[in-house]
Amino acid sequence: MYTKEFNAKITSVQGAQVELDQTAFNPHGGGLLGDTGSLDGLRVVDTVKGTGNSILHVLEAPATLSVGAEVHGKIDWDRRYRIMRMHTSAHLLSSIFKKETGALITGNQIEPDKSRIDFSLEDFDRERMLTYCAQANEAIAKNPVVKTYFMKREEALKIPGISKLATAAPPDVQELRIVEIEGYDVQADGGVHVNSLGEIVKVDPLKFENKGKTNRRLYFTIP
Ligand SMILES: [Zn+2]
Repeated sequence: MYTKEFNAKITSVQGAQVELDQTAFNPHGGGLLGDTGSLDGLRVVDTVKGTGNSILHVLEAPATLSVGAEVHGKIDWDRRYRIMRMHTSAHLLSSIFKKETGALITGNQIEPDKSRIDFSLEDFDRERMLTYCAQANEAIAKNPVVKTYFMKREEALKIPGISKLATAAPPDVQELRIVEIEGYDVQADGGVHVNSLGEIVKVDPLKFENKGKTNRRLYFTIP
């Protein structure tokens, strides 16, 4: 997750979409934006999932690269690192909201500048929600490690709170990737995260919105 640059071989080119034999670019999905960056200096404007397990690097213009060529990939690191920090913040906040209120997540959008999380929550009390954000900052100050590992699906599903999504169960695969904020949260997740909570520095709640009878939305940012 901390690889910023790498070399790889081109395995397929379709218009502006390039596939590599290996990549550090993270594709769009799970509420996360796809990585941007460059391949041999050519601008990558998005990274998306193709068929099967393929990851497609979407260039600004149809590729002038050919299959078999070696290229140097470079991720827009400042943007990606903010996404990692935002995403780990979202896990922490979700975990605290769930613990304090039982709320499940009904949606989220992680972006470099501002992110949002939607909770299914009857009670709308700004003051209380601010105290949950303060709890998140206390956790960040303690700087616990964030670990990722794989676990057999049936074992993982025994962990309480392994999926905090209201609508989606973890994908139907044999092994699940687990992201654990030690002492705070364990979730099945495929996205990019930081290695320790202190890297977030701080979460700043920006706005709480009432989105209907039981839907609450939190906007937040990080320094
Ligand atoms: Zn996640």
